[in-house]
Amino acid sequence: MITKEMTYKKAFEQKTLRLKEKQNMREQMLRAAYISNGRLSEIDSELSKIGAELAITALSGNTARLEQMQKLSLALTSEKTEILKNADVRDIEYECDICKDTGYVGGKICECIKREAAGVMSAELSLKMPLGQSGFGNFDLKYYSDKEAKNGENPRRRMTSILKLCREYAIGFNEKTTKNLLFLGGTGLGKTHLTLAIVKEVIAKGYLPIYASAENLFTSIEAEKFDGEGKGVYQQVLNCDLLVIDDLGAEMTTAFTKSVLYNVVNTRLLSGKPTIINTNLTMKEIEAKYTPRISSRFIGEYDCNKFLGEDIRQQKLLEK
Ligand SMILES: [Zn+2]
Repeated sequence: MITKEMTYKKAFEQKTLRLKEKQNMREQMLRAAYISNGRLSEIDSELSKIGAELAITALSGNTARLEQMQKLSLALTSEKTEILKNADVRDIEYECDICKDTGYVGGKICECIKREAAGVMSAELSLKMPLGQSGFGNFDLKYYSDKEAKNGENPRRRMTSILKLCREYAIGFNEKTTKNLLFLGGTGLGKTHLTLAIVKEVIAKGYLPIYASAENLFTSIEAEKFDGEGKGVYQQVLNCDLLVIDDLGAEMTTAFTKSVLYNVVNTRLLSGKPTIINTNLTMKEIEAKYTPRISSRFIGEYDCNKFLGEDIRQQKLLEK
């Protein structure tokens, strides 16, 4: 589980490291140029002599001498520039001209760091989840039967509308106004695929969601509470732009996890921050496993969508 704080820290570290490398490289080239061309040191000492004299001359009012010295100074500077250019010592090329790769502009975090942070989060998430392979474009509806069941449910039709819902959710994502989603249904029906597709779009928009399996989420919060580990994880789970809890119900349920789940769901509802939850449980099972308070929150405040169909992973295995 990677939080916003960790993401930004890493983004700054990466950016600073790249800048340091460029600065070191330039420093080395510069040193080599001074060693191979003695004229550079001469120019430096002439320039510093002129600098000292310029101030005095300016005060004396001797404009003819002043002009002469300024010309000399310019000539020396351009000679130096020429020598450095020939020695291939160039000015540092910054990735971001706005903040000169410091990451800050006017006391605020620069946009380039936000882009860097998005990259960090995607990379970290990709280590654990198939983020790259989970897009809207490769969500294949052919695996959902177009046959109507006895109860009138048509998997293809249902999944077509869920896919549309997810796409629109991602496109219009806004951490204040976006609704909460609950995805229900058995394993292998594409719940994780679609939530990852949403997460990918949301990251690309510059938001930093937290994506965690229920098990991982509760373990991290428990560790923080009882062992004092992972500073601020709980606060970030409560406050992040988008929280995705994958596979709710697969974790060991205790009085602690029940109360944490309720607190997370409720706090985020009160502050209007969106949450997406995936579960293999039915609403009845949610009520039994957690509390009726939770299931009633889901029913009242979440857009609940039941995934239909046959396990896609099984179908793909059979194809092979
Ligand atoms: Zn910048």
